[in-house]
Amino acid sequence: MKKTGPERKIFSKQNMTSFTMQTTLIKVPKADPGEVTVRFFPKMLNKTDGSVYGYRSETRKELIYKVSQSRVPSFDQLFRDVEFEFITIYQFLDPTKNGAKSKDELSDMLDKQMNGSATKKWFPYNWSDAEILTSFHTKYFDHFQLKALKTNPNNWDILDIQGKNNTIYVHASTAFESVLHIYWYIEQLVVSHQSILPRDKDCKVAIIGGGPSGLLMARKLVQMGYTDITILESKENNSGGAPPELTERYAGKTRTFLFDQTSVSKDKIPAELGTCYLSPAYDNMIDDFKRTGLLKGQDRVRFDQVDGLPVLREIVIDDQFSSDGPIMNLIQKGTPGQELLDKAIAPQKLKGRQIPHAIDATAYYKLKGFEAYYEGKDLDSVVDKFKKFDLVLAKTIVKYVLFHVKNFGTNRPFAPDRKRVNPDLFRLNIPQFLEKYNFKALLGTLQYGYSVQGYGSTAPDSTMPAFYLLMWVTPGILIVHLEDQILEKVKELIPKHLAPIIHEKPVVTAFTKGWGTVWDTLKEQFEDEEHPVHIDYGVDIKRITRLHRVGPKKII
Ligand SMILES: Cc1cc2nc3c(=O)[nH]c(=O)nc-3n(C[C@H](O)[C@H](O)[C@H](O)COP(=O)(O)OP(=O)(O)OC[C@H]3O[C@@H](n4cnc5c(N)ncnc54)[C@H](O)[C@@H]3O)c2cc1C
Repeated sequence: MKKTGPERKIFSKQNMTSFTMQTTLIKVPKADPGEVTVRFFPKMLNKTDGSVYGYRSETRKELIYKVSQSRVPSFDQLFRDVEFEFITIYQFLDPTKNGAKSKDELSDMLDKQMNGSATKKWFPYNWSDAEILTSFHTKYFDHFQLKALKTNPNNWDILDIQGKNNTIYVHASTAFESVLHIYWYIEQLVVSHQSILPRDKDCKVAIIGGGPSGLLMARKLVQMGYTDITILESKENNSGGAPPELTERYAGKTRTFLFDQTSVSKDKIPAELGTCYLSPAYDNMIDDFKRTGLLKGQDRVRFDQVDGLPVLREIVIDDQFSSDGPIMNLIQKGTPGQELLDKAIAPQKLKGRQIPHAIDATAYYKLKGFEAYYEGKDLDSVVDKFKKFDLVLAKTIVKYVLFHVKNFGTNRPFAPDRKRVNPDLFRLNIPQFLEKYNFKALLGTLQYGYSVQGYGSTAPDSTMPAFYLLMWVTPGILIVHLEDQILEKVKELIPKHLAPIIHEKPVVTAFTKGWGTVWDTLKEQFEDEEHPVHIDYGVDIKRITRLHRVGPKKII
């Protein structure tokens, strides 16, 4: 495609970059019933060199769901019959810092790290008994580099070219890397600014790419009455070579593998190697999906701590607390610091004055926030400081909410008025932003709420512009993992007009049959349309010729 000047200015290799994610699904003899479902290792993620940074047991995820629905007598009873667990393992690479790595290179790295003695401290399965079922290697999160954002262009410049030359850009890079952002962006674009679309509803529409963006855009155009839509997808359908007992569904970065584990469920169980979770922020989109039958046969399930079940999420804390920093200081103070830590850290894990390798995620958010907030500050009366830290956290959250509303308003995915946005969000990386605006108390929460999703590290050398942090961590997302007592304090402190943002404790959810099933249902709907949407797989596009049509000068 011959790009226009403004297009070249925006979509150049100098301006945009993306990370690499590799996820690997293994089948391995089960671990102890008391083990956690998810573990995240910030030190490894912060390396951004392709190191393994976490895992999730898909088997336990399903069991938690079953128990929380009271569909089975007890977790322990069901787990007794489990022989193997299906585990998804995550690797993350920032090629701008560490160079590109192929799928094979990352697989070698995985094998080496999992065989290493350090891994045994946090990975409770026996790697030598693991069978690798499949892995998924993908570019992840096309975004503007910090150096580009400092000088322009930015996401508003993409808005300026929408509709020109008969072209509309809808992809993660136009907003942010999540299905929700794609959905929001399409709504913002084609619903509020219909003038960017051709008037003739019978015109030929070609959509390049059959991932969630292409599929959702086609869905929206069908709803608007367009009759001649073809999606051109470069990959073959069901590509990837899944083993026979697994079903692979092809839809961009959604990779749902449905596996059989009859001891756990008579239905197939989803392992999500790509698109995975939802939060309450997805509610409107999900209501829309429900209304139009896209959630046929599946529920949205809470992925939440269930009382009486093992800890759901843990963080591996190696290298997270410095030997003379606030947390170690607190530990060395013994009682009552010890008691406070006992309360914060899963008590059964704390042996003597040693803190364990991995701790409950909610406790970690607080401890890490405390460490970051008091780093380099006077540590006198550290115990007192820790006692009062809930209030510090709550005040910082309220401050963040106010900052977010000021910059982003309530428009999603971002405020139409670019002038509203503080230029520091384009100039500073995430840690610089947290430091400058005194948000460091939130570091623990953000490491999980942001980094673990593969959106870039929050370490001092992070390459991520702060803008993207604000894009993802809306007030609703920020409070997802808060302890109840902190959330209560936030509710007391928040100005009345913003109270609806924080009205109830949100919970992370997932689909019972996976995201792949959503897209499959949509594809079935396309086939049943009066004017079906065609999807051509395995298409190698050689040339794109656009019929020139001058669109609106500025859509916003
Ligand atoms: C490990 C992982 C976890 C994730 N977790 C979540 C989550 O929990 N929640 C969430 O909302 N999102 C999550 N995502 C993100 C979500 O998957 C993406 O938002 C979504 O896939 C982006 O959709 P897209 O269509 O813009 O891009 P893609 O999914 O990348 O699809 C683009 C498609 O275009 C095709 N294509 C590219 N170039 C061409 C060409 N020249 N010609 C033809 N076809 C082409 C590609 O083959 C691909 O199929 C996750 C992603 C990953 C990898």
